[in-house]
Formats: sequence, C-alpha cells, structure tokens
Amino acid sequence: MKNTTKIAKIAIYPGSFDPITNGHIDLIKRASKLFDGVIIGITQNSKKPTFLSIAERISIAKIALKDLENVEVLGFETLLVDFAERQNAQVILRGLRAVSDFEYEFQLSGMNKHLNPDIETLFMTPAEKYANISSSLVREILLLGGDISAFVPKSVEQLLIKKL
Ligand code: ADP
Repeated sequence: MKNTTKIAKIAIYPGSFDPITNGHIDLIKRASKLFDGVIIGITQNSKKPTFLSIAERISIAKIALKDLENVEVLGFETLLVDFAERQNAQVILRGLRAVSDFEYEFQLSGMNKHLNPDIETLFMTPAEKYANISSSLVREILLLGGDISAFVPKSVEQLLIKKL
C-alpha cells in the first residue's frame, strides 16, 4: 500500500432507533472494527411519531453501547449530509435486512449522493439471527405485554418495561 496518510475514517449510522435493537447493535459492533469512529445519529423525524422521545432514544442507545469505545451517540435535526459533514464523516452507514429494505434505501442513498457527492453510503447486513428484528415489532410486542428479551439487551428491556 503506497499512501499511508492517516485521516480518521468516521461513519454515521443514522436512524430513529425507537428503540435500539440487537440488530442495530450487531451492525454497530461490526462497523466499529472497520472505522476509527462510528457516530449513531438519532433523528428527530418530524413526520414519524415515535414511541420514545429523542432524549429517551439517545440515553437508551448510550446505555446499550457504553462498552464500545469508538462509538458515540448524538441526536440531530438537520439534513443527514449536513450532519455528516459537520462531524467530518465520510460515510453514511445503513443496514439491509431483506430485499424489502432495498428500494427505499437505494432511493435514500441516491438523494444523499445528489445532495453531497463526497459522502458515500455503505450498506451492511447483520448476522442472520438478527435479520428479522425491527424496532416497530419490538414496540408492538412490548405494548402487547410480550417477551422482548431476545431482541434488545437486558438494560434496554428494563428501561422499556419501566417506560410502560
Ligand atoms: P429508520 O427509522 O431510518 O428506518 P431505524 O432506526 O429503524 O431507521 O434503523 C436504522 C438503520 O438500521 C436502517 O438502515 C435500518 O435498515 C437498519 N436496521 C434496522 N434494524 C436492523 C437489523 N435488525 N439489522 C440490521 N440493520 C437494521
């Protein structure tokens, strides 16, 4: 390898994280080995009402990720590409679970590339056992009194039950 100039490689992993799940965490752990830093960007998505407030989603994600040293959790309200630029991130990371995720993600990455061609979107897949987990199903099971322990860490489960 010729050029060894070191620029910190930072990835932003954006989403609602309502709540963070074992699927998200699996992806974040993988990414934290590939990048110098991974920023979890939690959106204040105005058109999507959330179960947890932005402050709750941030604090729950921080608790779930406390052992990962190069991972930071931040909230943001701006355009994703502007947030990425402000954080000196070169990469937007998104998860793909199934083909059904692809169409929306492809459109989103195209729009973001148009808005800022210097920021690259990378897709990662979780381990197979996490591919069926979604925050929306976790919320539904929780609200109906079901067992969510296989889908979120213990600390997150306790906080969610307390919230109910
Ligand atoms: P959004 O509200 O933007 O759809 P989410 O918070 O649900 O975001 O998820 C953030 C990102 O994580 C998205 O790219 C989504 O596809 C991905 N993701 C969600 N659940 C999983 C999972 N179980 N495994 C891998 N990636 C996931």
